[in-house]
Amino acid sequence: MSDAPAPVDDAQEPTNEHQAAEAAIESVKALHCEWKRYETDPSPGYCAHCEKDGDLIPWPCPTMIALGQAERAAGGSSG
Ligand SMILES: [Zn+2]
Repeated sequence: MSDAPAPVDDAQEPTNEHQAAEAAIESVKALHCEWKRYETDPSPGYCAHCEKDGDLIPWPCPTMIALGQAERAAGGSSG
């Protein structure tokens, strides 16, 4: 037998796309995490990634709010 190309299985699991989307969301979450100027800062934190006109953006940033809404829409009613 020569090295013939492996047959392409067309019946991929439908969860692959979902898993890829979740992996992308996790990557975004890793960037957009809550950050404080100092540990005892009484004020709400800021997004560690976002800024607008050179200023920090209060946490949660619009990106995380949008993600939360997306996850809520995609996930079940549990939680
Ligand atoms: Zn952000």
